[in-house]
Amino acid sequence: MGKSDNNMAVALFGGTFNPIHNGHLRIATELAELLQVDHVRMLPCAFPPHRSNPQVTAEQRLAMLQIAIAPQPRLIADDRELHRAAPSYSIDTLQTVREQLAPQQPLFFCIGMDALGNINSWQRWQELLHYCHILVSSRPCAEAPKSGPVADWIAQHRCDDLEALQQKAAGNIYFCDLTMLDISSTTIRNKIARGDSIHFLTPDTVVEYIQQHHLYE
Ligand code: ATP
Repeated sequence: MGKSDNNMAVALFGGTFNPIHNGHLRIATELAELLQVDHVRMLPCAFPPHRSNPQVTAEQRLAMLQIAIAPQPRLIADDRELHRAAPSYSIDTLQTVREQLAPQQPLFFCIGMDALGNINSWQRWQELLHYCHILVSSRPCAEAPKSGPVADWIAQHRCDDLEALQQKAAGNIYFCDLTMLDISSTTIRNKIARGDSIHFLTPDTVVEYIQQHHLYE
């Protein structure tokens, strides 16, 4: 991917996607609309630093993601984290994405409220905003921290004016409410292990891939 030649905002949505499901697809679609971006780049994580390694390969997770978003022109897969040998740290990813953008081009990194609460355990977390804005979507069981270093950091960088953020490259935190479907990858894996149907939780094409490759059984 070469340097971008326009100032259109770029949105990144990372995850384990083990497997991708309709909750992820709904959020990514709403992000594209909210931020008015041409594309949301969905980034599968290679070696989640905060979790034990998943039982399905990174290539299979990427394949399911690609199948799921094939009919969605605004969603694209970004497999850069799968090409790195080291664990996937967001700060490294953001740095490489930023290098490919124009200096004033806004970059939005989208995370859930659950992730925000422990963001201070991430590698070089206070530098994240050098490269991007962080967009935080609410989750039913998670609230923003009210005291401590993350709360102070939020207070310093929070901005509720999305139009203003779209005019600058990086540096702010924005909170929003997106539709949270009650679906998780864990639920899907558990249902498969029990022999239950996973139809309508993830696209049919992903259901077929999982069945063909006997994943999560
Ligand atoms: P697991 O059940 O394995 O923990 P997950 O379903 O939470 O997985 P991830 O790949 O870990 O999926 O999530 C990637 C991103 O998507 C995270 O930011 C997470 O907060 C968000 N997310 C996951 N499920 C939903 C959902 N149903 N609605 C909205 N966002 C979701």
